[in-house]
Amino acid sequence: MSNESPSSLGAPHAGAPSGQGAVQLENVTKRYGDVTAIEDLDLRVEDGEFLTLLGPSGCGKTTTLRLIGGFEAPNRGVIRIGGDDMSSRPAYKRPVNTVFQQYALFPHLSVSRNIGYGLKHAGTGREETARRVDEMMHLMQIPDVGDRRPRELSGGQQQRVALARALVMNPEVLLLDEPLGSLDYKLRKDMQFELKRIHREVGVTFIYVTHDQEEAMTMSDRIVVMSKGHIEQDATPAEIFDRPLTAFVADFIGDTNIVHGVVTRAEKGHATVDLGPLGEIGGSTDDNVAPGDRVRVSIRPTDVRVETGPSGGAVVQDSVLVGGHIAMKITSGGETVVAHVGRGTSFEPGSDVRLHVDSDRIRVFAADQPEAAAEQPAADQA
Ligand code: ATP
Repeated sequence: MSNESPSSLGAPHAGAPSGQGAVQLENVTKRYGDVTAIEDLDLRVEDGEFLTLLGPSGCGKTTTLRLIGGFEAPNRGVIRIGGDDMSSRPAYKRPVNTVFQQYALFPHLSVSRNIGYGLKHAGTGREETARRVDEMMHLMQIPDVGDRRPRELSGGQQQRVALARALVMNPEVLLLDEPLGSLDYKLRKDMQFELKRIHREVGVTFIYVTHDQEEAMTMSDRIVVMSKGHIEQDATPAEIFDRPLTAFVADFIGDTNIVHGVVTRAEKGHATVDLGPLGEIGGSTDDNVAPGDRVRVSIRPTDVRVETGPSGGAVVQDSVLVGGHIAMKITSGGETVVAHVGRGTSFEPGSDVRLHVDSDRIRVFAADQPEAAAEQPAADQA
């Protein structure tokens, strides 16, 4: 870790030469005994980007982070930071720093000393350490707690101290492994916006790991959705939500209905599907589907419109208030569909209804793709 130059907020940090990206993984494989945690992973993180690795437990997110940080060595492949091959560079010599869920502050040291700990060890002078610690406490909006011990802080404040401790070392890349995991819901939401602000102000490359899709959508410039040690989709939050590449991604990102049907018409990038009692529906597709193929269709609950009968066999099973909207569970011809409707437009359980779906977010997937619910760690597949 560098100790030569003072941290200058807002100033460009010593990033990668342009065109190389901050971090690159090329064909990286990591095995633990029989378990393949990640396989042939290619990933490129741009300088100054907020990139999130998102996926269910066991998909290989933390392993990827630990490989970048140098806490694990790959079995195969190359990891570059700022264009340099990291193969023979141990963790403490890499231009990265890590913030973990368990922030592990030193309980006997004051906040200022916790933040300045790494600088002191790196031989930074007293005055400069004091200035950089102070700068960090202002950035984290905890300017007045320098003399307190960690136990005298709230969970959110402790996490800010952990962030300050990592950023004060001026890393090129900050790795964040579920750093908000131990905070309660409200604090987590606040900290998500805080992290976004801090990222904007320091301009450091952030690589963030979470299994919480809402968190990923809120903060990231780009999301890499992982499953079973490989990448399912690598795109902006909006693209991932509106145009999931696979049924797995559609199912994992936000609420969706996955219903089954048969293709009646197909042209490049678009298919019309017969959903039986739910009628015919058109949707975009990146799969090679043809008339007669059985497919699965992803329909967001917000895209389902519910109207009074004649029923066509659609019956409301349940209707519950979820925050600002009503979630209605409706069955039709053996399929269950969830619709999110406004408070004034709900129907009582037992009502006969008619469903309309009309949205350019409808996605059609070949039937052989796994869904997120079927996800298992790579080791359990054999
Ligand atoms: P979580 O969200 O639960 O932390 P993850 O997506 O970060 O999951 P990893 O921790 O990267 O997943 O684990 C990927 C796979 O590698 C899992 O099957 C896990 O059990 C296995 N694994 C991870 N670390 C080890 C280890 N030290 N020894 C053996 N297997 C491991």
